Amino acid sequence: MIDRDGTINRRPPNGGYLTRWDDFVWLEDNVEAMQQLAKAGYRFIVISNQAGIGRGIVDRATVDDINRRMVAGLSARGIDIVDVYICPHHPDDNCDCRKPAPGMFRRAAHEHSFQIDRSVYIGDDPRDAVAAHNAGCPSVLIGPDRDVDPGDGVTATFRSETLLCAVAWIEKLFGTWVKAENAIRKE
Ligand SMILES: [Mg+2]
Ligand SMILES: [Zn+2]
Repeated sequence: MIDRDGTINRRPPNGGYLTRWDDFVWLEDNVEAMQQLAKAGYRFIVISNQAGIGRGIVDRATVDDINRRMVAGLSARGIDIVDVYICPHHPDDNCDCRKPAPGMFRRAAHEHSFQIDRSVYIGDDPRDAVAAHNAGCPSVLIGPDRDVDPGDGVTATFRSETLLCAVAWIEKLFGTWVKAENAIRKE
């Protein structure tokens, strides 16, 4: 599972919201890393807070359109985005989906039948590590804020400047899970 803004595309300036496709700028190193992982058989689910909708800054249709173009662009590079989940709510709505709440993670796992604790969440905001913790999966924190303490006594499982530096770690982690599964099957 992977975050969008600041992870796949450049973070909109000043804590703002992406309101048009023309402002979507790929974070090339991270997309390259996604490509490496895709080649190794990994698939992705995007999980993203889009409170710009709840704040009335951008409408849902525009966000959906941006996401469709993103998915198409990634697909053209061999990267399979299984689904995209967004929280459209205002931070004051107290919904159960806005990260760091685990609602979107649980929905994704339920709808796509995977074990949350056998997946990883990749993000750029220290709260992404908290969200992953709340959902029960390891986290990879990348980008300039990776060493910022999110509070709640949570630290990301792995931190690096870009996703490129995390590819080997992710493959190793999934490798240990596969080994554990195989050991159980042999018993
Ligand atoms: Mg982000
Ligand atoms: Zn929500």
